[in-house]
Amino acid sequence: MGLLPEQFVNQVQQATDIVDLIGQYVSIKQRGKDYMGLCPFHREKTPSFYVSPGKQIFKCFGCGAGGGVFQFVILHQKCTFPEAVRLLAERANIPMPKLTGDGPPGEAGLDRAELQRVMRFAVEFFQRQLREPRGRHALAYALGRSLTEESLARFEIGYAPETWDALALAARAAGFREAQLVACGLVAARETGGCYDRFRNRLMFPILDQAGRLIAFGGRALAAEERAKYVNSPETILFDKSSNLYGLNWARQAIAAANQVAVVEGYFDALLPAQAGVENVVATLGTALTERHVRMLSRLATDLVLVFDADAAGLAAAERGMELFIAQQMNVRIAVVPDGKDPADFVSAHGGEAFRKVLAEAPPALEHLWQRRWATMYSPGDLVAKRRAAEEFLQAVVSSSAFGAIDGVRQGWLANWLAQLVDIPPEELYRNIRQLLRKVPTAASAKPGVTSGAAAPEPAVGLAAAQRRILEVLICQPDLFEQAARQIGLEDFTEPALVPVARELWRLASAGELRLETLLYAQETPEWGQIITDLAAAGEARGNYQETLTGDLSLMAHAVQREELGELRKTGDDASLRQLTDALRRPDARRRPW
Ligand SMILES: [Zn+2]
Repeated sequence: MGLLPEQFVNQVQQATDIVDLIGQYVSIKQRGKDYMGLCPFHREKTPSFYVSPGKQIFKCFGCGAGGGVFQFVILHQKCTFPEAVRLLAERANIPMPKLTGDGPPGEAGLDRAELQRVMRFAVEFFQRQLREPRGRHALAYALGRSLTEESLARFEIGYAPETWDALALAARAAGFREAQLVACGLVAARETGGCYDRFRNRLMFPILDQAGRLIAFGGRALAAEERAKYVNSPETILFDKSSNLYGLNWARQAIAAANQVAVVEGYFDALLPAQAGVENVVATLGTALTERHVRMLSRLATDLVLVFDADAAGLAAAERGMELFIAQQMNVRIAVVPDGKDPADFVSAHGGEAFRKVLAEAPPALEHLWQRRWATMYSPGDLVAKRRAAEEFLQAVVSSSAFGAIDGVRQGWLANWLAQLVDIPPEELYRNIRQLLRKVPTAASAKPGVTSGAAAPEPAVGLAAAQRRILEVLICQPDLFEQAARQIGLEDFTEPALVPVARELWRLASAGELRLETLLYAQETPEWGQIITDLAAAGEARGNYQETLTGDLSLMAHAVQREELGELRKTGDDASLRQLTDALRRPDARRRPW
């Protein structure tokens, strides 16, 4: 639950009625005890989207999406869990709790507003240092990298001096406390007491969130011998790397207007295009592009261009881009800047228009991947080698975890597109894909995506089915948990997709808190919502809770004993063997009856 207290999250959940909430966005009509309507998460003509006021969940039987109020908001508003909680808290007029980070709860001066004042102070401090004699080399470096004076001012670029305490001293003199500086990630505490400036002899780039609030810094080393060329603020109350991008605050408008966003890796790579009039560029902050980044960007544009400066990096990026390309309804393309230059140098040498052209001509991620890796495996005219290359390429595409998670329509679209790329007739290729899909144990069933019809796990057989049905029953009838726990344990769940569900279920039950809604929010992702609602729906459709449970428990207990039997036969412990064999003959055989 991150920094949000669980109690607060529960309070918000209980104050929100799911029918009211969803009714605001989707036209739903009462049908029996449930409400139903057209699913907002996939295109459909006949309603398969249900909202249950009794269970406070929604479920789409078309695409599988499901969950509770938070998961609905996360999916619908394409936002993060904390944002969903905040939104629903505001809706229910519940004031947000003060977020206090690592400090003792309620400690004054460590809330966001206070910390932002500290950050603002630091920005201005660093900007002043850039104009001091001791910042002369930093200024020369920035101008040498083609940043103009105007850009230095616009992007508030500064200099952290080469001392251990310049910022800490100035901040204290201005009335800020050490704890605040630590909470902002500006200084680090020494083990021996006291603290020291985290950024020293670095060119400083303030990092702002989408709303333009200061949340972190990036520092470029100015000493040649410095090992870490770039250092970013640590994650703090203000700063979450995986959901922020450098430049998004100023690039937003341009991204939306162009319906295109270019993602680069460095501060200069974002700044120099912006300076040259190409403003739809953002930079990752020392991490790979995350799913949250992509979700954020997909709200602004459908065309995503990943920009890299060298071919080797471009290949690795293309493989990551492939997943995004397949999973998101987004056009993910890979641009490689010519001549091994980085985007910043390229823009200073050739100007903004040339860079815009590089972006415009970037091939889709899959095409880039095919060209760079597989198309180089055969010489022109070598049809056998080409087929083999195509086969391997398809294998890579189909076994990517994203592939199983997309719907049939998009799979078909992808097949047609790949057919053109590898120059094989679409029918043949589609057959190939189907064959490959059968061979690939769907990673999708372990990690179902939202748009996934394929996400509903395969009808499981034997033990796996028993494990699944037991969880279904326990989700629908938590009071049967005692009975289950007498016969099996958490360690008896072996199906990878079910293990996390069993774990959360056992954890909640032992805390006396096993209910559908607590389980639903044990993990906040939409994928989790889908898994839990799938299990709940299947359980309810079958009914017969007691009989199902009894039958499956004895099936599992028997299986466990048979395994132990096999072990005992090998080790030859006769007495235990006889006991176990007897136990297995008894109809209500329980696990470990001795
Ligand atoms: Zn749906």
